Amino acid sequence: MHQPNFTENPDIPELSIKTHENTSSEKTQQQQLKPQEKKRKREKKKREKKREKKREKKTNRENNMTVLRSIQTNYLSWIFLAVSIYILSYPNVLFAYVTFFILMFCAYFWHAMSHMNKYLSIIHYYHHEHNNFFSHFSQMLIELSLGAIPFFSYQAGYTFLDPWVVIFFTLFYTTIHNVNYGTLRVNNVHKEHHEELFCNLGPDICDVAFGTKSDRDMDVENTNHYIPNILALTILILFLQYICKNAFIYKMIVQKTTHFYIFVGLFLGISTIYLTLESIYTTSSI
Ligand SMILES: [Zn+2]
Ligand SMILES: [Zn+2]
Repeated sequence: MHQPNFTENPDIPELSIKTHENTSSEKTQQQQLKPQEKKRKREKKKREKKREKKREKKTNRENNMTVLRSIQTNYLSWIFLAVSIYILSYPNVLFAYVTFFILMFCAYFWHAMSHMNKYLSIIHYYHHEHNNFFSHFSQMLIELSLGAIPFFSYQAGYTFLDPWVVIFFTLFYTTIHNVNYGTLRVNNVHKEHHEELFCNLGPDICDVAFGTKSDRDMDVENTNHYIPNILALTILILFLQYICKNAFIYKMIVQKTTHFYIFVGLFLGISTIYLTLESIYTTSSI
C-alpha cells in the first residue's frame, strides 16, 4: 500500500507559499491604502472647513451690510453733519435736511448712471482710465458743477434747494473724493470702485441701501474721516455767510461764481466733445 508522503507531493508546499504571498501582498496593499484614505479624509475635512468658513463669512457680511449698522457705526459723522447743516441753515432746518438727502441720492444715481454707458459721462470714464492732471481736474469740475443749477436758479429767484447746503454738499463730496480718498487714501473703499466700477459708488450708506457694496468689504465703511471736512467746510461757509451780508461783497461773489461756472461749462463741454470724437475715431480705426 502506498503511504501518502506529503514531502513527495510538490504541489502542497508550493500552494501554501502562494497563499502566504497573496495575503502578504493584500496586507501591504491595505497598508498602502490606509494612508491614502486618511489623506483623502483629511482633505475632505479641510474642504468642508473652508466651505463652512466661507458660509460664515457670507452670513457675517450680510448681517453687517445694513443701513442701521451703517448709522450705528457712523453716528459721530451723522451728528456732525446734522449739527453743521442746522447751524448753516437755521431757521429753515427741515428744508436744509431735505436738500442734503436729495443731493446725496442725486450724487449716487448720477455716478451709477455714468457707469452704465461711457458716453453718458465720458469725462468720468476718462477719470477711471487715466491717472493724470486732466483726469483729476476735469473730474473735480464735474463734481463742483453740482452746485451750478441751484446757484443759477437761486439767482433767478427760484429756491427749490437750500443754497448754503448745496455749497456745503458740493465741497463736501469733492473734497472727500479728491482729498480723503485720492490724496490721503484713508481706506480702500474708493480704490475698490476704481478696480470693479459697479461697486462702492458712494456715499457708503447708499451703497449699503442699494446693495452695491464691494464683495471684498466685510463691513460698512467707517466714515469718521468725514469729520475734518465737515468742520472745515462749516467754518468756511459761516465765513462766506458773514461776508455776504455786505451787499458789495455778495454781488462780487455772485459775479465771480457765475464766471467760474461759465468756465466750468465751457471746459466740460469742449472736453466731452474732444473725448467723444477721440473715442469714436479710435474705435472705428481698430
Ligand atoms: Zn475716483
Ligand atoms: Zn466711478
